[in-house]
Order: sequence, then structure tokens, then C-alpha cells
Amino acid sequence: MHPTLAEDLARLPELLQSARDLAARELAGMAERPVVCLDHAPDRAALPPEGVGAEAALARFTERWAPGMSGSAGPRYLGFVTGGATPAALAGDWLTTTYDQNVINAADSWATALERETVSWLRELFGLSGAHSGAFVTGATASNMVGLAVAREWLGERSGVSVARDGVAALGPVEVLSGSAHSTVLKALSVLGIGRDRLRRVPLLPGREAVDAGRLADALEALEGRPAIVVANAGTVNTVDFDDLGAIAALKDRYDFWLHVDAAFGGFAALSPAYAHLVDGLDAADSVCVDLHKWLDVPYDAAVQFTRRQDLQVKVFHNASPYIGLPTKDPDFLHLTPESSRRLRALPAWFSLMAYGREGHREIVERTVALARRLGERIEQTPGLRLLAPVRLNVVCFTLADEPTQERVDALAHAVTESGETFLTPTVYGGTPGLRAAFSNWRTSEVDVDRILGAIRRALAEA
Ligand SMILES: *Cc1c(COP(=O)(O)O)cnc(C)c1O
Repeated sequence: MHPTLAEDLARLPELLQSARDLAARELAGMAERPVVCLDHAPDRAALPPEGVGAEAALARFTERWAPGMSGSAGPRYLGFVTGGATPAALAGDWLTTTYDQNVINAADSWATALERETVSWLRELFGLSGAHSGAFVTGATASNMVGLAVAREWLGERSGVSVARDGVAALGPVEVLSGSAHSTVLKALSVLGIGRDRLRRVPLLPGREAVDAGRLADALEALEGRPAIVVANAGTVNTVDFDDLGAIAALKDRYDFWLHVDAAFGGFAALSPAYAHLVDGLDAADSVCVDLHKWLDVPYDAAVQFTRRQDLQVKVFHNASPYIGLPTKDPDFLHLTPESSRRLRALPAWFSLMAYGREGHREIVERTVALARRLGERIEQTPGLRLLAPVRLNVVCFTLADEPTQERVDALAHAVTESGETFLTPTVYGGTPGLRAAFSNWRTSEVDVDRILGAIRRALAEA
């Protein structure tokens, strides 16, 4: 063994203590550090010919790189839809690396069983029945991709071909219908060889991001019996609008389609009796995507995918060889996901669900929605600003009351970011440039909302 490595092994408890101390310091300051870091990153250092040992590496990291980390884990980072990591999830994540399990199959440990337990808890949390099986993947992008890959195989089954064996050309052009599909659906269509341009945008309800179910029925009718993929959206990124999943599912009686639901963060409406109606009908989906590093507040990278057709999923993803074996009735995860070797990314979610339960996570969802509403009300009362849409759940979408040109909205966004108090991401909604403030961090409070509003108002005065 290299002598430095041997020394680190001998001093492992001290090293972990040092890393713990840094983590504790950083977490203690998380609420007060600048929410983003826009300074230039350090120049690249040369590859060390001789290593310095882990303690010295920690010191170099602390000095050179730690200052450039954003406060995205903190309470006032409202860009994209960004969760944090609950204390239990953080502990679970450390232990994931400590055990460093490869959740490829059940040959050597209970890790597979632990992931299955966690998936079954999540299934219950989102109101899905036992007909749905699931697996952890890296994010909603991967989850959408897996769901649509299974959909593609289903289309093959409908026309008597196997896409997994014969390729996507065997299918001919694929029909994909959606109202406000997320950009990652297009990415999945590209990766899957279906093609980005095969997504047909079905008209939306007036003034909404939700699909017009009647127009969807018309589009399905026009296919004259040809099977299709419908991507329903449960929580759009601009205005958190929800397709009427029940109405869409009811169309299955008349038309032949695979129903994939992108519930990346909207799926969490199921946790609250006040909002669960928004995802009524979710269980009827053939495949479902839910992100966990957003509103479950577990660290990157984690999402779950569910489907009712595990048999087709195995056709797409199986990875059989003499040394890893064939898929069984209860297939190992390497036969179900894009990855073969996989980290035990279920463990942080297991920890958070064990620690806080359904009620603890319901409280996070309801509090963050209440905070979004509070910010929405304050923005409406602010001269010079207006909401672009009602605050339906956890996102506030707003713009300048007068002349919301791209240039002026960019200037406002820039001034907000410069404050270091909060971070919002730009968007265009209904043709109007605006900003989004998305709440999903477990530690955000009313005091934070007041600070966020203060930063926006000061930026408005400056911009
Ligand atoms: C965030 C999001 C995605 C993509 O999620 P990643 O975790 O970034 O891969 C897909 N769909 C919706 C609706 C989202 O909000």
C-alpha cells in the first residue's frame, strides 16, 4: 500500500472527525452564507504527482473550493425546484458511502431488500397501488426516460414487434401527445430514438398550463385506432398546474394509449389532504416519474420511477450474462434501470422517511406551499410587480408590472442574485419574461420569506 494511503487508513477516525467538523461548520452557516457564488473559480491546479494525504486535501479543499459552493441546501435558494437534505437524509447519505454497496442484485447483501422497502413506502406515500413496481434512478430526467422506454416497448407489443430486439425503426413513427411537457421529455424522446419532433402539443385550457382533456380526446380520435403515448403533467415548472389525471385516464376506455405521468415534484401534493385531489387518478398511470431530490429533501441525486408493466421494463433493461444471471420473477435492479452498478441511493430516503414519517414530510409540503402563497400575496401588494399566474402550490411566477421586457426582467434577476439573499430562475410564461421562486427546502421559514421579499423590493428599486 502507498505509505500515504496507509497513514490515512491508520488515522481514519481523525479524518472523519475533521470532515465532520467542516460539515458541521458549513451547515451551521448555511442559512447565512451567500445564496450563490458568482466569483471566478480558481485556476486549475496540476495533477499532484505525490499526494498530500487526506487531511491536507481537506485543508486545500476548504481553502480553494469550499468558498465557491452555493447555498442551494439553505432556506432561500428558490431557483429551479431545489430541495435540501434533511438531517436524517444527510446521515443516510454518509452511510451510503460508508457501506458503498453495489445494488446490482441481491447476491451479497440486504441492500436490494432495503431499496424495495423504500420504494414500497414511496408507492404508498404517492397513493399508488401494489400494481406499481419501482426503482431508484438519478433524477426525474432518468425517471421520465425509463417510463417512456417502457412505453416504447408497449407500443411494440401492440404491433407485434419487440423494440428492444428489433430497434425503434420496427415501430414506424411514434405518436406522443402532451399539453405542457417538461423539456426532459424531449430529451428522453431524443435518447430513445423516437425523436423530439414526435411530441405533439395538445392545446391547453384557457389561461392554464393544464391540457384540455377534450382536445386530447380529439387528438386521440384522429389517430384512428393507432396506439400512442400520452404524457400527462402533474405539476408544471412555471405555474404548478396539473392535468386532470382522472379525465385523461378515463379516455383509456375509448383509446389505446400508454399514460406516463411526470409528477416530478407535483406528486408531493398526494401527501397533503388539502392538495391530494390534484393527483387524483395518478394510480391509473402506466408509468410515473417522481423526483426525490426536490420535495422529499434528500440529497442529489435521487428519483423514483414506477410502472405497472415491469415485464416490459425487463425486456428493455435486462442485463443478462452467465456471471450475473437471468432476470427472475422478482427481477434485480440491474434488469430494471439504465445503470447496472448502482449506489444505494435509497438509503437517504429511507432515513428521512423513517425519521419524519408521512406526517413530517406532509408538514414540509404544507409549510412550503404556505410560504409560496405568502410571497405571492406580498408580491401582488408590491407596486411595480405582478403575478403571472395564481400561486397554485409551491411556485411563485411573477414579473414587472410595467414593460416586462427580457432586458428589464434580466436586470431584476441580476440585482436579486447580486444581493446574495436569494436566487430565482428566469422563465417565459405566456410569452412574458418573468421569474420563478420555487419553495421546497425543509428549513425555509416566514422570516426567510420576508428577507426574500426585501431583496426583491430592493432589487426592483435598483434595477
Ligand atoms: C425537475 C423536473 C424534471 C427533471 O428533473 P431532474 O431531477 O433535473 O432530472 C422533469 N420534470 C419536471 C416536471 C421537473 O420539475
